[in-house]
Amino acid sequence: MINELRWNPLLGCWVVVSSGRRVRPWRKATCPFCPGMPETGYDWKVLVLDNKYPALRVKPKTSMESRDIYKVEPGYGYCKVVVEAGEHEGDLDTLPFDNLIEYIRVLVEECKKLCRDDKIEYVAIFRNKGEAIGVSLTHPHSQIYALPFIPPRIVVELKNSESHYRRYGDCLFCRIVKLEKEDKKRIIYENPSFIAFLPFFAMWPYEVHVYPKRHFPKLVEINDEEVNDLADALRKVVSAYNSLFDFSLPYMMTMHQAPCGGEYEYYHFHIEFYPIHRSRDKFKYAAGIEWGFWVFTYDDLPEKKAEELRKALKSGLDKASASIHQ
Ligand SMILES: [Zn+2]
Ligand SMILES: [Zn+2]
Ligand SMILES: [Zn+2]
Repeated sequence: MINELRWNPLLGCWVVVSSGRRVRPWRKATCPFCPGMPETGYDWKVLVLDNKYPALRVKPKTSMESRDIYKVEPGYGYCKVVVEAGEHEGDLDTLPFDNLIEYIRVLVEECKKLCRDDKIEYVAIFRNKGEAIGVSLTHPHSQIYALPFIPPRIVVELKNSESHYRRYGDCLFCRIVKLEKEDKKRIIYENPSFIAFLPFFAMWPYEVHVYPKRHFPKLVEINDEEVNDLADALRKVVSAYNSLFDFSLPYMMTMHQAPCGGEYEYYHFHIEFYPIHRSRDKFKYAAGIEWGFWVFTYDDLPEKKAEELRKALKSGLDKASASIHQ
């Protein structure tokens, strides 16, 4: 097993390299995340497992030494799977509400634990859903990567929120919440402590951001009421997605927070969702112009897509209340 970091000098970022890593073998009959399996046992609501074939390890081996500008570092870190429920099928909009609450609490605990390791600089939480983005395992789960470096996308957000703070004296994200609330057109859902909107600057057709209204940089700073409201907001966003077309919509969900150590008071915890569809039967690909140049093209107006999502949320809620009253 090899787990190493290789420096990409063109982009100034680390690539996580591992070999001997296999994809988890699975079949529905032997889903590794169902209760009663060797790794899972019984009597749990939400379960954290070590990834059996991790990209990063606590005792990593490298394949070679650094040479010149070709830097190699050990691939130190943790890769965990968070099994969100005992049910084999489902999504954040169908899990029992208690599970959602417990899910967020478990993430908070993991962040605390992982950041206690001095070598960990960042805890990246994400959820991939759907075969279209390479996830064939339907058992509801998320992943956590505890990384020995700050991810490039977060580096960019930190840099821009810091320079916004220096220039204007307020938080970039709080400013975005204020602008979205004034414009109203792109808001998908709002409760007392969270707001979900398709941002003015969206790059994916149905990209949705979920920001807490109170300013705090890290997930561990969330309070009880906010845990409840975040669970509610996640459920509503995913319900809108799953009511948009006549199928369960694949998406990536990422939680963006400040790094473990250091002072990042100007940063603001938030969640970003990127579904890859641009219509019922077409994907938006990160192709030549997007991936090769990082220039995203948006083929409609974000305000129109937000309208579609609001309608989808309403029809999802109508369906849910109809099934309750039956
Ligand atoms: Zn299962
Ligand atoms: Zn803020
Ligand atoms: Zn972000």
